[in-house]
Amino acid sequence: MLPDIQRLVELQAADLRLAELRGRLNALPEQLAAVEKRVTDARQQIATAKDALTTSLKDRKKYEIDVDTWKEKARKYRAQSFEVKTNEAYKALQHEIEHSEKQMAEAEDRLLERMVAGEEYERQVKAAERALAEVERAADAERQKLNAEQTALRHDVEGRESERQQIVPAVPETLLHSYEAIARRRHGVALAEVRGESCALCGMLITPHVVQELRRADCTELFQCETCTRILYYVERPAAAAAAPASADVPPRAAEAPAGEG
Ligand SMILES: [Zn+2]
Repeated sequence: MLPDIQRLVELQAADLRLAELRGRLNALPEQLAAVEKRVTDARQQIATAKDALTTSLKDRKKYEIDVDTWKEKARKYRAQSFEVKTNEAYKALQHEIEHSEKQMAEAEDRLLERMVAGEEYERQVKAAERALAEVERAADAERQKLNAEQTALRHDVEGRESERQQIVPAVPETLLHSYEAIARRRHGVALAEVRGESCALCGMLITPHVVQELRRADCTELFQCETCTRILYYVERPAAAAAAPASADVPPRAAEAPAGEG
């Protein structure tokens, strides 16, 4: 293999690791935001339950006043009914008494209903407070974990970047430009190993002549896959290891279907 290609293989490995690390790093703010949202939601639950409780207590006061008001009216009409002279007036007052008592009974029902609901809202407030405590405990742990992960990832990225910086100067500029241009179009993977007689990434058959050239120790020509345009390289493997997984310095296969290559 051409020493320049060998360096590109190393560069590709460093770039793929960098991309993976950066991807994880970029996902962290969203994960942190999700943690904060869980806390905000739990707080909102308490606020909602407390609002319902407050409304319920206000209603309760109002219905208590209603009960007293209708009770008082019924009492007044009853007192008046002892003093009226005519049958019509008496009947009219009886009607008012009935009406007031009916209203009082209805207000009492509403009051009872509010009292029961109020107890339920109190339970909900307590449950929401317990839930918040739980969510906050979990959030503290998650924040710590994510922050530690962020620090570790940043450190890793720096390490990989300096590793990359050591490789880059050794690659001829035009080759580096080709590499970067292909990488941009091909999901960050600019190199493809030839396995058997095909491009390991898109599956395209490579002509025997090209395979032969790539296998020559003194090969100086640059070959690209005709389908995916990636720069091709060939790794000599002992016959027994031919079927074994790729070694660590070989970029992993990109997760893409050959059909998508153009
Ligand atoms: Zn290809």
